[in-house]
Amino acid sequence: MAQKSNVAVIGLGRFGSSIARSLYNIGHDVLAIDMDESKVHDIMGQVTHSVAGDGTNEGVLRELGVEDYDAAVVAIGSDLVASVMACVILKTIGITNVVARAHDETHGNALERLGVNRIVHVETEMGNRVAHSLFTPEVEQYVGLTNDFGVNVIRVPIEWVEKPLKEIGFSGPRGKQSAVLALKRGKDVFLSPDTDDHLKSGDVIVVAGKDDQLRETLKNDLSDK
Ligand code: ATP
Repeated sequence: MAQKSNVAVIGLGRFGSSIARSLYNIGHDVLAIDMDESKVHDIMGQVTHSVAGDGTNEGVLRELGVEDYDAAVVAIGSDLVASVMACVILKTIGITNVVARAHDETHGNALERLGVNRIVHVETEMGNRVAHSLFTPEVEQYVGLTNDFGVNVIRVPIEWVEKPLKEIGFSGPRGKQSAVLALKRGKDVFLSPDTDDHLKSGDVIVVAGKDDQLRETLKNDLSDK
């Protein structure tokens, strides 16, 4: 890990508790806050500190020393007022890196105006990812860059094993339609693999490209090649 940071996570629903646990597992110091004592109890031992309290109360946050934290995550989704209040206070007390979950577009716009550094549209982002992998199960992760272009993490299907990348239809890093950015084999990662490289079973590749082009490539029948 590059650097250990202090992060406060406010709101321990499924989203907030998952972020808090992941941050702690990566090695950060995590203070998890929720109004609901049962949520605080559930996460005990999986983060550095967990405290029952109102994340929209400046006094509570100051008492917990949150103003000295490197970052804060506001994971309250459905209570727009509480989410906005928590963000205003965090920005006011000087947290430079505030990440907040937006319930919808209006909520996201409000958070943007408050200077929230990263706004996460959980439902939209997850919906987008699932939609892109529904008919292409090889695509394990998808990040859209535009409406029709994205970065895909693909578990190599059996038909591609022992085939060179160029035969499958991939070009190098300067390709116009799609390019393989990285190849993961076991614990090794190779950046910009050569298009003559043959794939092996269990390989994972990261491909940037046009969505329809990738769908075509995944549908290609390579059995006669
Ligand atoms: P998820 O989809 O992540 O499971 P959810 O839909 O269950 O979330 P939300 O209403 O988004 O619930 O709230 C997430 C958590 O935030 C809840 O555990 C709730 O108790 C907590 N919460 C709400 N308001 C505050 C507040 N002012 N201070 C601290 N925690 C709060």
